[in-house]
Amino acid sequence: MREASVSGLACEARLNLRNLPHYIDRISDRLQSFDADASREGQRLDFRFAFGDASLDMERLVMRANAADRDGLARIKDLLATAVEVYAKEESPEIVWTGDLAEETRLAQFREMVVTQVGDLTRHMRRIRFAGEDLSRFAKFGGMHIRMLFPTRDVPDPLWPVLGSNGLPGWPSDDRRPAARVYTIRALDVEMGIIEVDFLIHPGDSVGARWAMQAAPGMKIGMMGPVGRRVRPASWYLMGADETGLPALARMLETLPAETKGVAFIEIADDGERQVVDNATGIEVHWLPRNGVPAGLDDRLARAIRSVAWPTGSAFGWFAAEAAAATTVREHWRGTLALGRNETLAAAYWRRGAVGLMAG
Ligand SMILES: Cc1cc2nc3c(=O)[nH]c(=O)nc-3n(C[C@H](O)[C@H](O)[C@H](O)COP(=O)(O)OP(=O)(O)OC[C@H]3O[C@@H](n4cnc5c(N)ncnc54)[C@H](O)[C@@H]3O)c2cc1C
Repeated sequence: MREASVSGLACEARLNLRNLPHYIDRISDRLQSFDADASREGQRLDFRFAFGDASLDMERLVMRANAADRDGLARIKDLLATAVEVYAKEESPEIVWTGDLAEETRLAQFREMVVTQVGDLTRHMRRIRFAGEDLSRFAKFGGMHIRMLFPTRDVPDPLWPVLGSNGLPGWPSDDRRPAARVYTIRALDVEMGIIEVDFLIHPGDSVGARWAMQAAPGMKIGMMGPVGRRVRPASWYLMGADETGLPALARMLETLPAETKGVAFIEIADDGERQVVDNATGIEVHWLPRNGVPAGLDDRLARAIRSVAWPTGSAFGWFAAEAAAATTVREHWRGTLALGRNETLAAAYWRRGAVGLMAG
């Protein structure tokens, strides 16, 4: 059990939902998946995060958030409002927060960033360095991904998001809304105020890859985050990624404790796409070149993952690649091997033919 956190700032919102009991388990599951300790007292569910507390009162139909600082409160409001919006979607919930920082319009998770450096790691992987102010929150909350907001041909001069009264990002103008895509923070230096992102330059008409191809110092983009959950600590990992999951996998290899063991498979277009990764762990890395097979159509990555016997003891499975491969791996881990949700994460990072997967 975590110790009670300091509750310097507090706010609440009414939950005018007819069928709250119908959604409550899924809302609670989602909140717990962000590393919350949960407890129940009568009709009230309490969640204790590292950065503050939340509660859902099913009798009084109210949700509450409190935290020691602005970032923590903003994060809890965002987690609660997102969970309610997602699972109670059919009732189009109207969330209005009252209490501390209710008048705030600055979106805590947003930064405007400026390109300072562009370089190619390989023929298809471009590393871009961005500078921005006060990046400390990108090292908090466990998530290592970001929602990047790009200007496009149709919206060359976008308006950035503001904080809505529901605690979620609001868009000042639909006509000037930027296009969003999800990327990984490959490297972060809070003191120097820089974030690096590795962009795969993939074929087809796109927003992110197209922007990266013509990126130059001085260009501006928006960044929201961090998004995603903390990777569970384990002493052995089975990992799989294609080029889109490689930035996250490489960051883990560079930061996991040296005594960590395991196996990692990385699918790349060809041998020219291998990267030097400063692997600080005992995880064995195997590169799987597609050698002419189009991305998303080669099943060797999923087969390689399935061929590895699951060990006894503390282990975690992490997979990030095209949607069909992620489904195969998830079915194997959760279905065939009956592993739990807290032992595996198999995520779709893109889907053949789909635009902007997971960026909504
Ligand atoms: C949590 C998370 C982290 C991610 N991190 C990174 C990262 O660090 N670096 C990175 O490059 N990507 C990353 N991705 C993947 C990236 O978000 C998608 O590839 C996204 O579609 C790219 O947007 P786009 O505008 O270039 O293409 P879109 O406009 O979304 O798609 C245009 C077309 O390109 C196709 N396409 C998209 N991705 C690929 C691909 N990899 N290969 C071939 N065709 C493709 C689509 O199917 C579509 O037909 C991440 C995704 C998630 C969910």
